[in-house]
Amino acid sequence: EPPMTRTQPHIPWTAATLTLFPDAFPGMLGTSIIGTAEKNRIWGLETVDIRDFSANKHRNVDDTPAGGGPGMVLKPNIAAAAIDSVARNGRPLIYLTPRGAPLTQKRVRELATGSGVIVFCGRFEGLDQRVIEGRQMEEVSIGDFVLAGGEVAAQAMIEACVRLLPGVLGGAESASEESFEDGLLEYPLYTRPREWEGRSIPEVLLSGDHKRIAQWQLDEKIEITKRRRPDLYEAYRAKGDSHERD
Ligand code: SAM
Repeated sequence: EPPMTRTQPHIPWTAATLTLFPDAFPGMLGTSIIGTAEKNRIWGLETVDIRDFSANKHRNVDDTPAGGGPGMVLKPNIAAAAIDSVARNGRPLIYLTPRGAPLTQKRVRELATGSGVIVFCGRFEGLDQRVIEGRQMEEVSIGDFVLAGGEVAAQAMIEACVRLLPGVLGGAESASEESFEDGLLEYPLYTRPREWEGRSIPEVLLSGDHKRIAQWQLDEKIEITKRRRPDLYEAYRAKGDSHERD
């Protein structure tokens, strides 16, 4: 049976993943609000098995690295055949790799407003450089650590996009006040009970004074960002300064 590579035009946002482990999908993308959104046809998922494009009967997809060194490299002709089997439909083609640009909420927001993504999941040492260049792949990393393969990274990236699609988050969850939305990390959260193991909810949150609460939350956001992510705090301050000049 040929691989399923057609996109479904009636679904507004479609992710295609190219992987050597198609059984890993939908994985987490089939559960909870993301899975429900898929059932409601808010988004769609195509999974392409890279091995289906192997040229030989052993279904080999990798070979030893030119110049020596450890591990194996995904062959360019097979990777390109898998990529070319997927209709682009204006979607960016992303190669997940620790070498890529760090994924940010800003990029996630951009991806969520497009028609979807095509995500190539690497394995072994990675993908032959000529495919990355020849197919103009956008190299993206989900963090400064090394996974065994791109599948978990693809699910993380797609999940981050899908939860921003219109109709995915209900009233119980909202993206508007979250970390990164204004360049700051989130303020601390509390719920009942009022006292727990000798710790109380900050008095201001119980005051009912919405102005004071909003000020406290902003102060906490600034404080936590300054302490944990001086890089984000500097960018936030620079943005504020440029607004003041405008
Ligand atoms: N040799 C590569 C390097 O040094 O950068 C690491 C290869 S890793 C073992 C195998 C595959 O996992 C990569 O091709 C990539 O698709 C995926 N991967 C691993 N870490 C990742 C990360 N932080 N972000 C995105 N993808 C990652």
